[in-house]
Amino acid sequence: MHFNELNLAPELIRNVTALGYEIPTPIQQQAIPAALEGRDVLGRAPTGTGKTAAFMLPTLHRLRGKEGLRALVLCPTRELAIQVSESAREYAQDTELFVGVVYGGVPLDKDMRGLRAGYEILVATPGRLIDHLERGNLDLSKVEVLVLDEADRMLDMGFRPQINEVMRRMPKQGRQTLFFSATMPNSVKSLAYDILRDPITVEAAPKVQAAEGVEQFVYPVDARQKTGLLLELLRKPEFTSAIVFCRTKFGADRVAQAVSRAGIKVEAMHSDRNMQQRVRALETFRSGEVQVLVATDVAQRGIDVDGISHVINYDAPKDPEGYVHRVGRTARAGEKGVAITLMSGGEIGDVAAVEQLLGARIPRVNVPGYSFFVADTPLVLGEDGEPAAPVEQAPMPQTKRAAQKEARSSRGRKVGELSQEELAKLLKVV
Ligand code: AMP
Repeated sequence: MHFNELNLAPELIRNVTALGYEIPTPIQQQAIPAALEGRDVLGRAPTGTGKTAAFMLPTLHRLRGKEGLRALVLCPTRELAIQVSESAREYAQDTELFVGVVYGGVPLDKDMRGLRAGYEILVATPGRLIDHLERGNLDLSKVEVLVLDEADRMLDMGFRPQINEVMRRMPKQGRQTLFFSATMPNSVKSLAYDILRDPITVEAAPKVQAAEGVEQFVYPVDARQKTGLLLELLRKPEFTSAIVFCRTKFGADRVAQAVSRAGIKVEAMHSDRNMQQRVRALETFRSGEVQVLVATDVAQRGIDVDGISHVINYDAPKDPEGYVHRVGRTARAGEKGVAITLMSGGEIGDVAAVEQLLGARIPRVNVPGYSFFVADTPLVLGEDGEPAAPVEQAPMPQTKRAAQKEARSSRGRKVGELSQEELAKLLKVV
């Protein structure tokens, strides 16, 4: 399928063609025709699948020739809001539709000049949007299209009350809602159930999987040797642009300092850094001025940078679905990339949970002098939870698997999602 076949206005086709898009991505192929028909859309799609164009192109098409605030896009973080607004402006060239963006962390009056001039499309983080609504700076009465981007992340960040408040202030009749989420835990299904009307469900991938084109490896390493191994890897010429994920802000700062001391240009990105620092970190990384970005999970969703050669999990993600998000930072839009997880003895269970979610084993790479294991054989844990002697082709022990399952369900998360049919049935609202 080609963009021409999607019945989008010629100026929109010109704009995406100028950006080098030729073939719509799978999520675009499914979501755009449904949205053009005016249907609500429930999209399960992580970042990197082309979801921004999937909701923005039909929205721009629908709003041609209209004036006043007509579309609202809610995003969990300022980084994502900035990126979505930048993409939207590119898609909106020559349409006379203006795209604005508001997010927390900057003085409210900074937004006012743009809000007074008027936007047809406003991208906003929920808290900042409510601030403006409460001050009477915004009128949602003409809004026809509501987009929720990364709904799962918004709920994780505790934005459900703000989303409810926005819904209360939106027109009830004639509204189209485009709802995107990388994952579909029950909290997200319940929100979707509340606000979507007879939606079409679209999916980037039939099941949870790391982005296509990503080669994945696990490097077993003693916890105390992780920094040494990381530096050894980063010095290799093929590591042209790498994101390193750490679990804590403190850890991220420590790793960034070690990388910097080794003479490699690096920036850190986490929630303790202010907005200017985050924007600068992203800009210098994007431009290639710095080779390494060290980030925590809080910062990871907004990172939309092409050409990332490597994603390195300095700490294994505690949540297996988090692994899929992290790895999705590389091999975006059909490129190739490599994802490496540094796994200490204490993280064997975390990696096993990821493998269970992916339904595949990730190959092990043992680097002499660093590895705590020699052979690339499945890992078997002994009674004490420590690695026992490796056994050729041994399956993951059942007890361990059951324990992981229990741990996950006790956190209210399920690896097995509802089927398409069940979900459709659940969301059918007459
Ligand atoms: P998104 O998932 O919206 O963040 O998009 C991920 C990246 O893919 C962005 O850099 C987009 O510019 C790019 N992209 C989106 N759609 C296409 C397409 N049809 N062809 C090529 N690149 C695309």
